[in-house]
Amino acid sequence: METILSLKNLDKKFGSVHAVNNLSFDIEKGNVYGILGPNGSGKSTTLGIILNVVNKTSGSFSWFDGSISTHEALKRVGAIIERPNFYPYMTAVQNLKLICKIKDVPYNKIDEKLKLVNLFERKDSKFKTYSLGMKQRLAIASALLNDPEILILDEPTNGLDPQGIHEIRKIIKEIASTGTTILLASHLLDEVEKVCTHVVVIRNGIKLYAGPVNGITATNGYFELNVDSDAKL
Ligand code: ADP
Ligand code: MG
Repeated sequence: METILSLKNLDKKFGSVHAVNNLSFDIEKGNVYGILGPNGSGKSTTLGIILNVVNKTSGSFSWFDGSISTHEALKRVGAIIERPNFYPYMTAVQNLKLICKIKDVPYNKIDEKLKLVNLFERKDSKFKTYSLGMKQRLAIASALLNDPEILILDEPTNGLDPQGIHEIRKIIKEIASTGTTILLASHLLDEVEKVCTHVVVIRNGIKLYAGPVNGITATNGYFELNVDSDAKL
């Protein structure tokens, strides 16, 4: 088992708000992880910390075996934590070429990634003509240009219609099937159940459960823990 990311007693306070509370969990290579919790439970803050865009208050996290700096490690990570932001009057391909330049990766990955997200046929259309689902798929393609070992997504289906949601979930599963580890934050139990193999359930920044996704089931629109776990309720 190869550990991609390890969080130990991670903590984040925004003034009096305890956004992430003593959070520990490990991400192992090849699995699809969900961070599941209602709005405001600390999912995005957790992702921000491990991606070095939010400063932790205390605790630690280490990428890969901890032998390289976070800066170096993040070159092996693909992440979408904000709404995709591309140049509206440039085509999908032109936008991805720019990203290749920024990331210092060759252009020859572009077609392959566009095919993976089912945008190859529309690659010469301007970004502004894309639907929200297509924009999100292009963001996924851009995050994959450097062949990351792990892909991190924050609420990847938010705002999409049922068809768009279905397409994104299918693509995430396809990416996982190529061996890429995935970490996605979601407030939707059914999304995590459909897409993920493992789940970390958090509420108010506190871990309630971490383990296989079949360790939780839906009850009354929310979830119930149904296996022995390291849950701290
Ligand atoms: P989630 O992604 O699960 O919806 P967040 O991580 O965005 O949750 O937020 C967790 C808590 O931290 C919320 O109470 C939110 O209001 C607070 N929070 C997040 N970012 C900031 C910030 N930059 N300043 C102050 N409070 C914040
Ligand atoms: Mg969030």
